[in-house]
Amino acid sequence: MIIRTMKKQILILGGSNEGFILAEKLHAHQDFSCISSLAGRTSIPRKPAGPFRTGGFGGIEGLATYIKEQKIDAIIDATHPFARVISKNAAIAASMTNCPIAHIWRAPWQKQPGDIWIECSDMQQAANLLTEKHSPCFLTIGRLELSAFQNRKDISFLTRAIEPANKSDPHNKNTNTDNININQEPSEDWPDNFSFIYAKGPFTYEDEYKLITDRNIKAIVTKNSGGEKASAKLDVARALQLPVFIINRPEKPDEPNSHFIETANEALDWLQNQ
Ligand code: NAP
Repeated sequence: MIIRTMKKQILILGGSNEGFILAEKLHAHQDFSCISSLAGRTSIPRKPAGPFRTGGFGGIEGLATYIKEQKIDAIIDATHPFARVISKNAAIAASMTNCPIAHIWRAPWQKQPGDIWIECSDMQQAANLLTEKHSPCFLTIGRLELSAFQNRKDISFLTRAIEPANKSDPHNKNTNTDNININQEPSEDWPDNFSFIYAKGPFTYEDEYKLITDRNIKAIVTKNSGGEKASAKLDVARALQLPVFIINRPEKPDEPNSHFIETANEALDWLQNQ
């Protein structure tokens, strides 16, 4: 007689590389079925293994309803470490529905000997601390928080994002960088001191070195996202002795049920013990 056990239904809140790795593992696992959830910020998102859904849940209540309706047995919050709203919402919704949750909290980058880091609590602080000697400044912050720098007309910015902004986001400008695969579009209504390149990591040391030296970059602004896919720019900054304005991590969710892990493998171990 074959005894079949019910597969546990796992919700992966995606957006990070760890989420994609975990979806592959769970999709191939006999004890689990999983659905990934993506915010839908990019027009051609990377597709996770297995089923996925796109778009917000409608806040905490909406997520709690989804958890109940879909009979979710456990949640892995694999969103980006700076996606603070969804992580907190997930922690609260999980608590409301008695659904176990673990947050993948990738370790932040640590300052190395030789680094010139100016630690900032948010984007606005970084924008305020920049001086003319940091121009041209490389903004590797995505496209959604650029407005913090909009009034710094005294500084030239090279901004890198995955894709051009939609109509409500800042537009992009012509650029002439040939060392990485970029798409370019003209812009009419974003200040002239901003130029834009569009590229998706990972970025190698050689790519970052060429871009930063070709553009005569004098400073970098980045979130402390952690991980290896975007860390080469920090190695280049160290080698060239460039200051890095680094935005510190937001607070972790602090719900009583919040459990923190660092990797997709740890998430799998945790799920197997639920
Ligand atoms: P956020 O501020 O934490 O979330 C804003 C709202 O977007 C949430 O309240 C939720 O809407 C929706 N949302 C976010 N992630 C979702 C997901 N995985 N599935 C369904 N809905 C989601 O998030 P954010 O900083 O805008 O980031 C959006 C997404 O991009 C995240 O999934 C994140 O992993 C990814 N990302 C963010 C960054 C960053 O620096 N912030 C960098 C790389 C990737 P409802 O309230 O309607 O549910």
